Amino acid sequence: MNYAHARPEGPSEAPPSLDLITTALFLDLDGTLAPIEDSPELVTADPLRTEILEALHSLLDGRMAVLSGRQIHEVDRILEGAVAHVGGQHGLERRLAGGTLQSTPPHPGLEDAAQAMESLARAQFGLLVERKSAAVALHYRAKPECGPAVIDLAHRLAQTHRLEVQEGRMVAELRTPGPNKGDALEVFMAAPPFAGARPVMIGDDLTDESAFAAAIGLGGDAILVGPPRPSHARWRLPNPAALLSWLAEATRGSRPLPLVEPAA
Ligand SMILES: [Mg+2]
Repeated sequence: MNYAHARPEGPSEAPPSLDLITTALFLDLDGTLAPIEDSPELVTADPLRTEILEALHSLLDGRMAVLSGRQIHEVDRILEGAVAHVGGQHGLERRLAGGTLQSTPPHPGLEDAAQAMESLARAQFGLLVERKSAAVALHYRAKPECGPAVIDLAHRLAQTHRLEVQEGRMVAELRTPGPNKGDALEVFMAAPPFAGARPVMIGDDLTDESAFAAAIGLGGDAILVGPPRPSHARWRLPNPAALLSWLAEATRGSRPLPLVEPAA
C-alpha cells in the first residue's frame, strides 16, 4: 500500500450528513457495518442494520455496494441480501448490476500456501485458517502473541508462491494477485447505476485504503471507522454503532426508523 498521500495525523472529525442525491455509497463489512468478532462465522444478521441498508438502497436508487474481504455469499448471509452490488475477497470477485458475476481465478500456488498455514494453525491452538475461493486468511485474534509469526509466514509464502499479502486487523491473508478494493470501486463507478455519482467509501482497515484513495481520486470522499490512525480518509466515526446511527439519520424523514444509539 502506498501511503505517500495518506494523512499522517489521520481524520478526527465526524462526517457531514450523507447527501442522498449525489452519493454512491461503498461500505466495508467487518469492523465497519458489523463489530469484529473472535471468529468470522460469529458475525450474524442484524434486522435493524438490514432495515437501514434496504432503506438506503432504495433512497440511493441502488447506488450502494459492499466491498469486503469476505466471499459474496458470506456478505449475503450477514446482510440478508440487502445489498445487491458486492465486491468480495477484497475486490477479486464482484457482483455487478443485474447480478453479473466477475471473478479472478485462484492462483495455482494458493493450495500449498493454505496447507502451510494449516500446519502452523495445528501447532498453535487459537489460530484459525479461513479458506476462500481465491485467497486464504490466517486469523490470530484469539492468539495475538502469534501475530509476528503469522505475518512472517504470510510474507515468506507470498514470496515462494507469488501471491499477495493483505494484512488486516488480527489477520494476514494471501490473495491471488488481482484487483483490490480500489479497483473494484472503480469498476462499479464505471457503469450504471453508479456512473456520474460521487463515491463515498467507508471502512476500517488497511485493505480499505485503496478504496479510500480511489473514491477521493474520483472526486468523492472517505470515512474511517474506528480509532484515529494515518489514513487517506477525511472523516472518522468511532465504531460500527456510530456508523449505523449516521446512516439511519440519512434515511430519517423518508421513512421512520428506530434511533441507533452510538456505543460509548
Ligand atoms: Mg473491515
